[in-house]
Amino acid sequence: MEVLLANPRGFCAGVDRAIEIVERALETLGPPIYVRHEVVHNRFVVETLRGKGAVFVEELKDVPDGAVVIFSAHGVSRAVREEARQRRLKVLDATCPLVTKVHLEVVRNSREGLETILVGHRGHPEVAGTMGQCDEGGGTIHLVETVADARAVRVRDPARLAFVTQTTLSVDDTADIVAVLERRFPGIRRPRKDDICYATQNRQNAVKQLVGTCDLILIVGSRNSSNSNRLLEIALKRGVEAHLIDGAAEIKRRWLDGKRRIGLSAGASAPETLVQAVVAELQSRGAHRIGEVAGIEETVTFPLPKELRPGGDLA
Ligand code: SF4
Repeated sequence: MEVLLANPRGFCAGVDRAIEIVERALETLGPPIYVRHEVVHNRFVVETLRGKGAVFVEELKDVPDGAVVIFSAHGVSRAVREEARQRRLKVLDATCPLVTKVHLEVVRNSREGLETILVGHRGHPEVAGTMGQCDEGGGTIHLVETVADARAVRVRDPARLAFVTQTTLSVDDTADIVAVLERRFPGIRRPRKDDICYATQNRQNAVKQLVGTCDLILIVGSRNSSNSNRLLEIALKRGVEAHLIDGAAEIKRRWLDGKRRIGLSAGASAPETLVQAVVAELQSRGAHRIGEVAGIEETVTFPLPKELRPGGDLA
């Protein structure tokens, strides 16, 4: 049995930054540090930070007055920001700059009097945060999840319309949805640059490289991780057996029966340490050769918030 690692895989620049913000806040200020929502969608990361003193809450009402609160990488609505300001909470913003880019597009559309269509998954915190940018300028935003939604969505004025997308969607599914929107509304404004982020695109391409040659694909990532689920779907849609696992302990013996080559990748919120633990587990179950596909080298980095940079309030 052989193991073939996807490349790139695992942590992206936005996740790296978000985790570093929580760790620096814990080191500088000491626990407890409040974090609104899981800072990134990975059980191991969240449990590790919880062990160091991070307190994860879903709503700001659970943060004591005057405390430090970190917004997760998925971003927040303007209403949440305003609530934090009114409560005089000290905010450290771990919103990924590529999510902020989408927020700014919605605000711009809204100020220019355009309606926005957001392509995304209902219930995901990034979608809640992006929908919640629209009150600036009194704009309107419609959520579209599927091709059927794109065919059905009703807008006020098709000539004054724009779309944005969630950053972690399936590139292929989104292209289908956008094609319907552009057919129905030929003047619809596209984002200046793709909203599906570089990390999502690169990880999806890397899994596509694996599916042709592997008879089992394992994706390391948590169930609530959007981009990890999209990697899983790539394999399943192409008829390859695939499983999403939080770690090595979830591998079932029957999955490995008769398999010759196992492809392994990880979502953007899953640490490499979990991938290496899966490799070790597969070696203990008979994998004799570990290889890695050549892939794009990612050099993207994002600066920390100014409070945590040298000379900042909390540096
Ligand atoms: Fe940012 Fe993309 Fe990573 Fe999300 S997956 S944190 S948008 S770089």
